[in-house]
Formats: sequence, structure tokens, C-alpha cells
Amino acid sequence: MSQEPTSNAASSSTLASTNFIRNLIEADLAAGKHTQRRWSGSPGPAARQLTGPLDPARIRTRFPPEPNGYLHFGHAKSICLNFGLAQDYGGRCHLRFDDTNPEKEEQEYVDSIVDSVRWLGFSWEDAAVESAEAAVRECNLYFASNYFDWMVEFAEYLIASGNAYVDSQSADEMRATRGTLIEPGTDSPFRQRGVEENMDLFKRMQQGEFPDGAHVLRAKIDMAAANINLRDPAIYRIRHASHHNTGDRWCVYPMYTYAHPIEDALENITHSICTLEFADQRPFYDWVLERLAEGGLLQRPLPQQIEFSRLNLTYIVLSKRKLIQLVEERHVAGWDDPRLPTLVGARRRGYPAEGFRLFAERVGASRSDSLIEYTQLEDTMREVLNDSAERRMAVLDPLRLVIDNYPAGQSEDCHAPNHPLRPEMGKRVMPFGRELWIEREDFMEQPGKGYHRLYPGNLVRLRHAYVVRCTGCERDQNGVVNAVHCDYLPDSKSGSAGADNYKVKGNLHWVSAAAACLTEVRLYDRLFVVPSPGARREGDPEGIERDFREDINPGSIRVIEAWLEPSLKEARPEDRFQFERHGYFVADRVDSQPGVPVFNRTVTLKDSWSSKPGQRR
Ligand code: ATP
Ligand code: MG
Repeated sequence: MSQEPTSNAASSSTLASTNFIRNLIEADLAAGKHTQRRWSGSPGPAARQLTGPLDPARIRTRFPPEPNGYLHFGHAKSICLNFGLAQDYGGRCHLRFDDTNPEKEEQEYVDSIVDSVRWLGFSWEDAAVESAEAAVRECNLYFASNYFDWMVEFAEYLIASGNAYVDSQSADEMRATRGTLIEPGTDSPFRQRGVEENMDLFKRMQQGEFPDGAHVLRAKIDMAAANINLRDPAIYRIRHASHHNTGDRWCVYPMYTYAHPIEDALENITHSICTLEFADQRPFYDWVLERLAEGGLLQRPLPQQIEFSRLNLTYIVLSKRKLIQLVEERHVAGWDDPRLPTLVGARRRGYPAEGFRLFAERVGASRSDSLIEYTQLEDTMREVLNDSAERRMAVLDPLRLVIDNYPAGQSEDCHAPNHPLRPEMGKRVMPFGRELWIEREDFMEQPGKGYHRLYPGNLVRLRHAYVVRCTGCERDQNGVVNAVHCDYLPDSKSGSAGADNYKVKGNLHWVSAAAACLTEVRLYDRLFVVPSPGARREGDPEGIERDFREDINPGSIRVIEAWLEPSLKEARPEDRFQFERHGYFVADRVDSQPGVPVFNRTVTLKDSWSSKPGQRR
């Protein structure tokens, strides 16, 4: 039986690169674009949180999650890209909570995001840049809500300079006058309000004089712009809502598209990398920064927005809305359910952080939409685990094996390497005795051709122990085999001189019945049975939307009790192993108790899905 998975992980040809972003960065660095300090705005309450001087040869990127959900595999790509580029160019990457929306944002999400970014192996605490500027230590953790004072001040500047006005149309009226992709919009009757009136109204909006929706502050750009995002987009709205950070201090909140460029500029971000859906917003991003720079509120050079395509993977969903639905409707046990494509789920599942970093490097960043095979992620995880996980034996579907010529009550040690290719990882002891557990599928009374495991008369090796000859089996009253009998060949012990005298084709794993530990093992499978959950199927009536929940795999978890070799009793939470022939497993970080680990299957040794797309095994 082969022990090693044949790794068909992404070959170097799929080493899609991040070249287009690197080229931009390198051109900027070569041109000395960022040699100047940019910030010169008036200090507000958050002034001390802004970045210190940065070596001109360095870049700043940021990962800006909105704390309204748990991070998923798509975010991992963005994190690895942003932190990775900063690392490669000796720069900094900020973790910034984009918490400008008072609703739906919670501390629970903030905490979990912090944990997940750390878990992926990245730091915003200036660990990467030590030698050159050891004296300058930065903690680059930010909250966009700390910039509300500046955002309001900047909005007032836009009003004063004739670049913004208060619109008192209803939301419906604004929608109706926005135009379409082919027709221009029409000017609001309030568009020509004077500066003084606008300023007065905006101040009163801030003081809470008006109900939600009564007025909106809009940028004054062009209602006939071809790009619909430039048709006087809203920049501030009234929202009488408590904010997790600023409490009840504000009753106006900035729109994301206005807030984001300001956040970037205040933090001296050089390259603001985001997903493609923001490409149409780039002109407005630049417009905001240009106006503020013109007014002397920001110094040039301004941050540059760069878009890349988001990660999509088959067999999962990567949308916060859908993930929240799966959790709230209890299709899974929680945010960290090992079947969910959240990073907390992946961690419990046993996916190594290194696997995500490698995967991100391989899928790279480009501007074309792509759907990546889930197998490609799994293969990367297998590759990392194959290299690092210690080997152990575990019997998941037990059948008793009795060695009739081995003395009852006797036991001896067998020594098994922890890793077949890495002797430095040492060996562990496996007690051998008269009664063992073997896998039920490793015995057949009347085998077909090509079956080399136990059947009457056949010789097999018990891995790291002896060669045995099968002599027969016992059955219970229902005719089900409940024990297999054999004799061992005393001169065949692995590692002894006689071991080579026996050439056998079967090589079976086993555990000692007297010493093994019985443990809960969870066999996880994909959460969805089709590559694109919720997509229309052939033959579905036109125009009918399918629900992604209809594609949930009803057999995505199987909980069993398994016999493990005794050394696994000591496994600590998050220790990862290859259970020989079964796959990679991790000691669950939540449910394991000292001396009583619970194991989750991370991934099988080989892909069992790609041969039959859309089918469960
Ligand atoms: P979702 O679309 O799943 O609700 P989001 O984009 O609203 O996610 P944010 O918290 O705004 O979530 O995302 C933070 C950062 O992660 C953004 O810069 C966003 O572009 C990036 N990101 C989100 N999803 C993906 C993805 N699938 N692939 C790559 N980057 C992503
Ligand atoms: Mg978003």
C-alpha cells in the first residue's frame, strides 16, 4: 500500500504571478514617487495613530476588512497579497477596520479578524522591518471610525469649495434622477444651493436636527457623467445609530466610497489594492483625493488604487451574506465549523496557515475573473502536510486480528519513523501484541484478483512489525466476520536481519488492541455537492432562481469512533498527523481534552472528487 500521496499540486506553470502589481510598485519605487511625506492635515483626536516617517524606498499597503463577519478564504488571498507585498518590498501593511457603517459591526468580528490575520502568519506590529529603522516602531492597527473628525472636516471643505451640496430629495427621487447606463441623470433641484446654506444644513445634520434620510451630502461632479458613480455620489448620510467605537457621538456617517480614499491617504498608503468590483469607483476615489489635495488638506503623491480579481473556488460559497445564512440557520455548527470556508473553520479543519500562503502565491493576482478548482486548494494543503505532518496509525473501521502463535500477555515495542523522508523527526514506539485492530477492508475471505491484503494463506507485513500468514476467520451469528486469525513469522521483524527474506505485496497498518485508544474522529467532506452552489442546472426552467442551500451535501460530516495508536493520546490541540492510508487529521482545538483528543479529518490523501464531478463518493 503506498503511503505517500502523489502530489499533483499546482505545477510551476500555474504559478500565476502578482507581476502586474509588482511592476507598478517597482516603477513607483524606481521613480522615487513616495519620497515625500504626504500628511499635513490638521490634527484631530486620532492624530497619534497616524503613521510615522517611512523610508522612501518602502511601500504601504493595507487590508481593510469591514468587521461585519468572519474572514473567509477570499480574504486570505487579499491578506497574503497585501502583507506579502509589504514584506517583499520591506514596507508595511496596515490592518484597518473599515468600520464606518454603524450597523452590523461587532467586537466579536474585530477580535476574530485580528486572530485570523495573526494565524495566517502576518503582523502589523512592525516585525518585518527591523534592521534599518529599529528605532521606529509602529503598530499599524487602525479603525476608520477614528477618522470621522477628518472626514467631516474634509466634507466641509468640499462644501466650501463648491464641490459638495446638501440634497433634500428623497432616496426614491434620487434614484429616479440618477439616469441609467445609457441615459444621463438629471440635476437635483437642490444642486444650486449656495455654500452658506449647504454648510448650515450639514452642520445641522451633524447636530441631529433631522431624521434619517431627510438630507444627504452629495459630491458635486456631473449628473451626465458616463460613469454612473460620478453622478453626484452621496458622501454623507444621516443615521441615528450607535457605533461600536464612537458610540452616539455621530448621527451622520460617511459613505464607503468617500471614506475609503481618505482612510488610505491618512495612513499614507501607497498602493491601495482591492478587488475588481471597485474598478468603476476608481475615478471617484481619485476625485476625492484630488479635491482634497488641491485644497491643501492632503499632500501628494496620493495613494493609488489597484484592482485584482477576487478568489472564487468551486464547491464553496465566499460571500458573507451566504456564510451568515449557513451559520444562523444552523446548517453548520458555527463560524468555526470545519466545513465552512472561514479562516476559523479552516483552522479547526487543520488546514495549515502555510498552505494558504502557498496557495495565494500560486493563484497569484490578475485582473481576469477565475474560478479555481477546490482540489487545487486541497492539493496545496496536502503538499504542506505531507512535508510536515508526523505519521501515525489509526484504524477507522476495526476488525480484530488474532496472532495465534504469539504468546498471550506478551507485548513488545516496534519503532516507527515519524516521517518517512525526515529522519530528524525521530521515531515513536508502537506496542505490538497478540491481538490487534486492523481495517475491516483489509481482510477478504474470497478475494478478487489483485487483492494483496489478508486472505487465507496469504502473507502480509504489518507495518513496522512482523510478516503474518492468514489462517482464517471467525464469524458471528449473522455471518459477519468478527475476527481474523494468523500466525506471525518471528524472524521477519522490520529492521531485523530477517526482514528482507520476505517479499510481500500487502503492507497493513494496525494498532495494538490492548494499548490503542478509542477516540472520536470526524470525517468531513465538502459542504456542497456541486461546483457552483445555487447555479442553474441543465433542464431547470428559465428564470427560476435556485437556492444555494439546495446543494448542501447531506453527508458532509460523519462521526465515528476509531482506534488510534497509543502515542496519539498525548496529541495536543492543533497537532496534525497523517493517519497512514487515511489522510491528514488534526486534534480539534475546541473539543480535545488532555489525554482525550478528538480528531478532525483535514483532507484525504488523494482527491476523491475530481473523477466524478458533482457526485458524492
Ligand atoms: P464579501 O463580498 O464576502 O461580503 P467583502 O468584500 O464585503 O466580502 P470586506 O470586509 O469588505 O468583505 O473585505 C476586506 C477585503 O477583502 C477587501 O479589500 C476585499 O476586496 C477583499 N476580499 C473580499 N472577498 C475577497 C475574495 N473573494 N477574493 C479576494 N479578496 C477579497
Ligand atoms: Mg466589502
